[in-house]
Amino acid sequence: MVTDRGPRKPALVSDFLKSDQNCSLSLPSDDRITLAARSVESSLATAAIPPVRDACAALASVFAGFYQVETPSVRVLAVRPIRTWEGGWAMELFGDYDPKTRVIRVWTKTAVRKQVTSFGTFLSTLCHEFCHHLDYQRFGYRDTWHTRGFYERSAVLYHNARGTPAKRLFWVEMSDGRWRIDWQRTKRGF
Ligand SMILES: [Zn+2]
Repeated sequence: MVTDRGPRKPALVSDFLKSDQNCSLSLPSDDRITLAARSVESSLATAAIPPVRDACAALASVFAGFYQVETPSVRVLAVRPIRTWEGGWAMELFGDYDPKTRVIRVWTKTAVRKQVTSFGTFLSTLCHEFCHHLDYQRFGYRDTWHTRGFYERSAVLYHNARGTPAKRLFWVEMSDGRWRIDWQRTKRGF
């Protein structure tokens, strides 16, 4: 995971810095998110879209209820599209979020082998996209970036949903000013 470059527009710089420094996210003291995530897990095992869509909508509504924001719509689609860039390299799209329509899209199957996405990947994508929604709706940022804080907030939400202890993320600064996760230190935890 690599962070985004800072914005060019001076008016956006302070929101970018706020997002970068905002590393925590409040969580419910009960297991409402974990329970809703478990329904997503069992729905994914059916490999059918309608139950996954219902379970994702229920999870989105639990998220929105706790963070007191509008509930985003979740569109569940089958096979992940592949985005191709100049130079020929391609990447699967796991999910996205449109701030204008407040719609999250997630895909349940891998692009090439068309296998059902693992629950961990699927849930982490949902949490990631919901954090984009929170950037606008809860924190009031004028844009949403993949900052260190953004990845920390997504990880906090994901671990709560998964029922696993949150890990501290360790970062390494790159020569262009962006940051990448130091996976070895993050896994070791120190
Ligand atoms: Zn994103």
